[in-house]
Amino acid sequence: MESLTAPDRFLRMAVDLVNTRTLEPEKLVSPAALAEFLIDHGEPTADVTDDDLAAVQAVRERIRPVFHAEARDAVQILNGLLADYAVQPYLSDHDGAPWHLHVAKPDATWAEWLAANAALALSGFAATHGFTALDTCAAPDCERVFVNPAANRPRRFCTPTCSTRTRVATHRARRAGG
Ligand SMILES: [Zn+2]
Ligand SMILES: [Zn+2]
Repeated sequence: MESLTAPDRFLRMAVDLVNTRTLEPEKLVSPAALAEFLIDHGEPTADVTDDDLAAVQAVRERIRPVFHAEARDAVQILNGLLADYAVQPYLSDHDGAPWHLHVAKPDATWAEWLAANAALALSGFAATHGFTALDTCAAPDCERVFVNPAANRPRRFCTPTCSTRTRVATHRARRAGG
């Protein structure tokens, strides 16, 4: 299992993981779907069982509130995840991979590996950019989460699509209201 030098990769993985289930239907519908998610996020291969799928979904729901909560509550969740899943970091070059850092235990399950790396990436990001940089889309019919490192460029929506949809809806509502 890869765990690598770029925290960005795990930050993106944490965001994308939460967004596998929002108001849209569940995307992690099978072990194969989870394997595809892991490979899409940089893993060379992924053997995934039904137990892995259930455990990853549970980790996902534990991470989700970090994007909604006040800083103090988000810190409690992240520190809890780090306490439960992160271990003393160590370097590895297993399977011919270049030297990279592992923060999950050597025999970690996919859920444990994901929890450790996602918690570390989110913690590092929040420590640098503040918890307001971890946010949820403001569109009423969207629950997607996102990260926004640009403090001077406040962002309310997950995508330009949601921003446009909301603006159009607001405009229509205003017109309908007279
Ligand atoms: Zn590795
Ligand atoms: Zn949105």
